[in-house]
Amino acid sequence: MRPKCERCQESLAANGEAFICSFECTFCTACTGEMKNVCLNCGGELVRRPRIDGRHT
Ligand SMILES: [Zn+2]
Ligand SMILES: [Zn+2]
Repeated sequence: MRPKCERCQESLAANGEAFICSFECTFCTACTGEMKNVCLNCGGELVRRPRIDGRHT
């Protein structure tokens, strides 16, 4: 999982909101909205990334 948006390079918190495509291209919410949920790199659909629940192993 990439720590930054691939479009604007904004840092993405591990438990924050972000969107990924099936190839794990990662984007922030603002960019995802501007791209209409279509991945800039591969044209795939962007879906909300599951949050990490913060539980310790
Ligand atoms: Zn962005
Ligand atoms: Zn992609």
